Amino acid sequence: MVWPCPLPVDAYVVAGREVEFPRPACPACWAPMVLWAGYWRHVRAGGRCRKIFVPRLRCGCCRVSHALLPAFVLAWRLDVAETVGAVIAQVAGGRCGVRPAAARAGVPYTTARGWVRRFCARAGEFGTAFAALAVDLGGEPVRPAADLRRFALAAIGAAFGAAAGLPGWLAVGCWRFASSVSGGRLIAANTGSPYLIVGTRRFMPPVPP
Ligand SMILES: [Zn+2]
Repeated sequence: MVWPCPLPVDAYVVAGREVEFPRPACPACWAPMVLWAGYWRHVRAGGRCRKIFVPRLRCGCCRVSHALLPAFVLAWRLDVAETVGAVIAQVAGGRCGVRPAAARAGVPYTTARGWVRRFCARAGEFGTAFAALAVDLGGEPVRPAADLRRFALAAIGAAFGAAAGLPGWLAVGCWRFASSVSGGRLIAANTGSPYLIVGTRRFMPPVPP
């Protein structure tokens, strides 16, 4: 599960286990869940590797525990959502090639190329899902474009634009928003559609500051 954490990465790192984690209901049965240990993992932000605490929540009814990832993390990725998103926006948006985008982000060329390929492979699906979400949230409809990559970026932008009108989301930022509603799987290999996650209301609203 991904929660729309608005904290800067540094603040999250420093707070360690003391972050005020939300306690969402169980996604399967809606029972309340309790904090259930957790684990440490690395993230890379601004070219630096940091260690963060990821709590687990457990549903007593289902006897299942879920990791609660902050939205700046993407599942199975070292780099934060903002880094990945910036590369995708530049390359898929046609502003530059992978090499300069990777250099600006401070990541290896092959890593950046992998993100862009994953995103492009699912661009049509993302475009449709985020365009539907934008309308769901009261935003402007986005028409499918011949260039699916640009369609996906426009739809993500429109969905975030609509979400930013709701309490809390503006501070979360566009790529953390995209990570939140896709369950951290924006560039995962094989996953359910982000629209399903939103459609079954598995995404959490941010806590207004
Ligand atoms: Zn449950």
